[in-house]
Amino acid sequence: MSETIQAVKGMNDILPPESVTWDWFEGKVRSLMTRHGYAGVRTPIVEPTALFVRGLGEVTDIVEKEMYSFVDSMNGDRLSLRPENTAGVVRAITEHSLLRDGGKRLYYIGPMFRHERPQKGRYRQFHQVGAEALGYAGPDVDVELILMCRMLWRELGLVEGRDLRLELNSLGQPDERRAHREALIAHFEAHAELLDEDAKRRLHSNPLRILDTKNPAMQAVVEAAPQLMSFLGTESLAHFNAVRAALDAAGLAYRINPRLVRGMDYYNLTVFEWVTERLGSQGTVCGGGRYDTLIEQLGGKPAPAVGWGLGIERLLLLLQEAGIATPVVAPDAYAIVPTAASMPLALRTVDALRAAGVSVLMHAAGRDGLGSMKSQFKRADASGARYALIFGDDEVARGEVAVKPLRDADAAQRCLSMAQAADWAAELRTA
Ligand code: ATP
Ligand code: MG
Repeated sequence: MSETIQAVKGMNDILPPESVTWDWFEGKVRSLMTRHGYAGVRTPIVEPTALFVRGLGEVTDIVEKEMYSFVDSMNGDRLSLRPENTAGVVRAITEHSLLRDGGKRLYYIGPMFRHERPQKGRYRQFHQVGAEALGYAGPDVDVELILMCRMLWRELGLVEGRDLRLELNSLGQPDERRAHREALIAHFEAHAELLDEDAKRRLHSNPLRILDTKNPAMQAVVEAAPQLMSFLGTESLAHFNAVRAALDAAGLAYRINPRLVRGMDYYNLTVFEWVTERLGSQGTVCGGGRYDTLIEQLGGKPAPAVGWGLGIERLLLLLQEAGIATPVVAPDAYAIVPTAASMPLALRTVDALRAAGVSVLMHAAGRDGLGSMKSQFKRADASGARYALIFGDDEVARGEVAVKPLRDADAAQRCLSMAQAADWAAELRTA
């Protein structure tokens, strides 16, 4: 035997039954998006590295140390696996002039890649759901996106306040940030002895990023730093207050976190995160905000935009921690076929049932044939099916199939003719 090959560290296989939970979750997301008027968008997993350097900012954790970047050996192109998908969506809408007839509401579900230390809730390939509303400037869209998250939590069985809560901040506009930046640099320079290496390096290139530090030793100096909120002008404050008023009216509680800055440089005005206490230091489940300058920065015609990204692995871990049961799928029926002679009729009947909407798991032959009735019943039981369909020789000779309830000891076995199969399907659906 040759040596086995393992998956890349930090990149996981998603197998049944876990994959069933993923399908269920993605179904919920697609339904939610459709109800909010968001259409799916699928962009490539590989993009030019320059897209992320220009989009996310050169002095960010992602671009400095988390990107999977490589040179295409065929032509020398500098490429990266996407670490997030807002930049990709912006590239796509610009490349295809998607905003020429007005704003667009888009969503995606897919893998992202970041070279981080793998741990619970933090992987090198992980998956995000993202929603982006492009071409809309008003605070109403910010609120729409936040309320959409709340609806998703509710539909998954999560409870706001208990499992998740909303943190909110405003990053103002670039000129307001510049004034704040001067004050920040002055503050950190005055306390230079308290800064770690990362912070010292960023002090002049990107001091706002220092507020995003995860170093506990720096919490005090960061806590005491001047707050961006006090540098906001009237318009920025009006936008922020409009978001707050609409959230209040919707009965959604939030905490204003003046230190919430997010990991990419492209944000302005509204930023938010949905956080949980249940996942330790991987507590941010969903984050987003407004990025009114990104489209122009990436060469597009200036247009405002706002969006969020949600980590699917973290969200599913949260469901587990919160004790929320996710559905287990079992087939409606398991088809038992004692002899190969019955197989043609069995396949035809099962085909008709499936076409009528019944899920049927067909017993499949192994190396040693179909196996005994006993072993087939064992498999039927293990499958979780509600019924066994028995294609015994006698039944088949009469053009019938026996239906045996597997989960209800009081229910009687009965026989169906091929012609009755569709009626039975309807009966099952209404049961
Ligand atoms: P963190 O502060 O935990 O590193 P982040 O600010 O880098 O998160 P974003 O870039 O805002 O995360 O991505 C949005 C969401 O994607 C996060 O809230 C999280 O749920 C998820 N996410 C980010 N990085 C990872 C990862 N390496 N593994 C799993 N999920 C991740
Ligand atoms: Mg991160």
